[in-house]
Amino acid sequence: MIMPHAFRLTLGMDLKQSILTYVKQKGMKAGSLLSCVGCLSHASIRLANESKSLELVGPLEILTLTGTLTPEHVHLHISVADQSGRVYGGHLQDGSVVSHTAEVCLAEYANLSFTREPDTATGFTELVVEELEH
Ligand SMILES: [Zn+2]
Repeated sequence: MIMPHAFRLTLGMDLKQSILTYVKQKGMKAGSLLSCVGCLSHASIRLANESKSLELVGPLEILTLTGTLTPEHVHLHISVADQSGRVYGGHLQDGSVVSHTAEVCLAEYANLSFTREPDTATGFTELVVEELEH
C-alpha cells in the first residue's frame, strides 16, 4: 500500500518545483512528504493567514518539510534555521532554492487518490480524498 521513494536535489534546484516534477514523472496519485534535510540559498515562505511572503537569504538549514502530494499540486510546509539558529516556517512557495544538497523521502499511497477542488468556505482549492478499489 505504501511505496517509499527517495532522491537527492542539488545546487540551484527549486525545492517545490523539483518535488512536483518528481511526483508527475512517477505518476503518483497520492502521497506525503516524509522527510527532507538539506540547505537552501533562498527561501520563499507564505505566513499563516497572510498574503505576504517571507523572503529569506541563506545559508538556511532545512529542519522539516512535510506535506500532501497530489498529481498536479504539492502542498508543503517547511521550517528552516538561519546561521544563528533562529527558526522560520510556513507554507513553501516556488523560488526556494537548494544549495549543496537536499535529501527527500516520500511515501506514495497506492490505495488513495488525492485531488484538489475549489471550496467556497475557504476560498482555496482543498484536498479531496478518494479510496481506490482493488
Ligand atoms: Zn499551506
